[in-house]
Amino acid sequence: MTGVSFLLNPTDPATIFTPEDFTDEQRQIAATASDFAANEVLPAAAEIEAKNFAVTRALLKKAGDLGLLAVDVPEAYGGLSMDKVTSAIVADRMARLGSFSVAFSAHTGIGTLPIVWYGTEAQKQKYLPKLATGEWLAAYALSEATSGSDAMNIRARAVRDGDSYVLNGEKMWITNAGFANLFTVFVKIIDPSDPDLAKAKMSAFLIERDTPGLTIGAEEHKLGIRGSSTCPLVLNDCRIPAENLLGELGKGHHIAFNILNIGRFKLGAACVGGARTSLANAIQYARDRKAFGKSIAEFGLVQEKIADAAARIYVAESMAYRTIGAIDAALAGAEDAKEIQKRIEEYAIECSLLKVWGSEMLDAVVDHVAQIFGGYGYVEEYPAERAYRDSRINRIFEGTNEINRLIISGFIMKRATEGRLPLLPAIKTLMDELLAPPSFSSGEHSEDPLAREEKMLVNAKKLFLFAAGAASQKYLNTLADQQEIMAALADMVLEIYALDSSLARARKLTAGNHPNAALAQSITQFYAPQAAGIIESSARKVIASVAEGDSLRTQIAILRRLSKHEPSDTISLGRRIAQAAIDRKAYPLN
Ligand SMILES: Cc1cc2nc3c(=O)[nH]c(=O)nc-3n(C[C@H](O)[C@H](O)[C@H](O)COP(=O)(O)OP(=O)(O)OC[C@H]3O[C@@H](n4cnc5c(N)ncnc54)[C@H](O)[C@@H]3O)c2cc1C
Repeated sequence: MTGVSFLLNPTDPATIFTPEDFTDEQRQIAATASDFAANEVLPAAAEIEAKNFAVTRALLKKAGDLGLLAVDVPEAYGGLSMDKVTSAIVADRMARLGSFSVAFSAHTGIGTLPIVWYGTEAQKQKYLPKLATGEWLAAYALSEATSGSDAMNIRARAVRDGDSYVLNGEKMWITNAGFANLFTVFVKIIDPSDPDLAKAKMSAFLIERDTPGLTIGAEEHKLGIRGSSTCPLVLNDCRIPAENLLGELGKGHHIAFNILNIGRFKLGAACVGGARTSLANAIQYARDRKAFGKSIAEFGLVQEKIADAAARIYVAESMAYRTIGAIDAALAGAEDAKEIQKRIEEYAIECSLLKVWGSEMLDAVVDHVAQIFGGYGYVEEYPAERAYRDSRINRIFEGTNEINRLIISGFIMKRATEGRLPLLPAIKTLMDELLAPPSFSSGEHSEDPLAREEKMLVNAKKLFLFAAGAASQKYLNTLADQQEIMAALADMVLEIYALDSSLARARKLTAGNHPNAALAQSITQFYAPQAAGIIESSARKVIASVAEGDSLRTQIAILRRLSKHEPSDTISLGRRIAQAAIDRKAYPLN
């Protein structure tokens, strides 16, 4: 299977990986991480939130003693060399407290992975064993005050001087900077005879904390994840031995961007973990809180929020583990770091899909949760308020959701142009089909309980092809400049992947007579109309922008045909899903 193939081909449920496929070893590590987060991290929440970094460091060291920092590190350097699903499981189960989760993810992901993938033998031997145990902690310094999204425009620079490089410049927003021992710092290499920054190529250096010339600035005061450390770095004639260059000279941008693919899928998984924790808090509260002589969990409007949160978690979880399972399958037999990155890059679009959908799912869930807590959702003594604040950063870092949306549709168009994705032939086939007289065999009355959702999905994929075809025809190779259209196309892809993953998992559970099959079906039936609604409105937005007059009317008629579906009783479905969650006092597919 190749990346983004779901867009053009039907998904065979038997081929997707789901949380129900976790191995015993993966379940065990999930339990270890979950227990650690519940029993060690949460009780220390007040101290962590007060920026008592000694506590955070000690907890990270303890996590290291349990092997939780070593999943992605090769055995040869003191690690566990485990698969990416395990790595995502740990990120997911550790995510009970946003601040700690961010410190943990920054260390194990963007902090450690650059050395795993790009380090020389000497660098790996020197740093990885310490990073795998938590004796040392790591940070990743790419962003600057004037360039976050526009990362290729960084201004920090290095000049070669004999056996060393001399670095100058400033970095901003660096997670873990307050206590990290090691920084991967991105700079431009300047040729003194032609000091034009625009021409200079990016490189990465490993810089130890006590290097003269490196100063760590003051902590930022943040809306959320207040217990995480976020500081600027100042490089003032900071002299680094040449052997601290990471990867190839002038190819630092490969490191910067490839590491982000992993960062994005882990962020998606961590959002699932954070949402599960928040939902469990809300259910507990709703069961206990009495109003009008009843537990508020009995009210339909509270149940609707619980159902919507549970459904979104199920969808995000299905998308996340499906993708990461596919990445693991693609990585089979790959030993060389370059080959590993190439194979992961095949799934770069899915990594962005997880990042965007996961972070927006978490925001929706913590919003429902704050509302269920009522006034208590607005005060610090209760967990809903912190979760609400902590969630917001996920849409900003690891590439803002706008940048990731542009990546999603931009990469799809690029792959189509390069002939790696047969999008144009698929659009042509669809147009021939649409010009033929419509067929009225809906299939919605079959015995298949998911026939309606299957049809919604098939039509959603057609709607995407239709909208993408119309937009490409109008703008040709300048489509990328039409950001609103690119984002609307990305929204369609996001919801197609959400529905495709949800449906495939429900079908797989049904085929295997899994005890959660009926619930997975109900959730898929509950969520599908929401996905279809977003897909329809996004397609309408694109078409209304690219067509006019008779052509617009014809295209809208086609859109209506492809958007038509029988209504689902989402109220009954929601009540059933909420009741399952309330009975289990948690996300009900655990
Ligand atoms: C708490 C925290 C921790 C962080 N940790 C790290 C870290 O460890 N290491 C690190 O290197 N960085 C880190 N960052 C930085 C983070 O990655 C950046 O803030 C982020 O990439 C956005 O960059 P920016 O702040 O410069 O915003 P900008 O890039 O200026 O973006 C501002 C707005 O403009 C939009 N925008 C920008 N460009 C485009 C475009 N081409 N098209 C459409 N819209 C656009 C953005 O989506 C956004 O809405 C962290 C930030 C925070 C707040």
